Amino acid sequence: MPENCLFCKIVRGEIPAEKLYEDEDVVAFRDIAPQAPLHVLVIPKKHLDGPAAVSAEDEGVVGKMMRVGNEIAVREGFPQYRTVCNNGAQAGQTVFHLHMHILGGRSMAWPPG
Ligand code: AMP
Repeated sequence: MPENCLFCKIVRGEIPAEKLYEDEDVVAFRDIAPQAPLHVLVIPKKHLDGPAAVSAEDEGVVGKMMRVGNEIAVREGFPQYRTVCNNGAQAGQTVFHLHMHILGGRSMAWPPG
């Protein structure tokens, strides 16, 4: 499955993305269809289908995703932001590789749609 996974292809550099950060564990890149002035996706390099696939051995990288997302948001000038991780199609997940959205630069409504 990782062979055909869109975000695995971004990790491998097989399709282009505007990467803002990369290390041995995670990659962050701009969402192709931004829903806010700042819309970045932070993903693990390891293929995980989504939040439900995170096991104890992945806890470190998931924490790193949050730290890296915060650092990018601050660096981009949006220290107030929303994080979103959709789990499953009903929740709005369309790409089945774990990703954390970082959305900032506008007021956010609650409850979410
Ligand atoms: P989700 O609906 O939570 O699965 O989010 C998937 C996100 O991936 C959406 O916000 C899409 O706009 C975004 N997306 C899809 N394809 C690409 C791509 N090639 N580069 C960057 N973002 C993408």
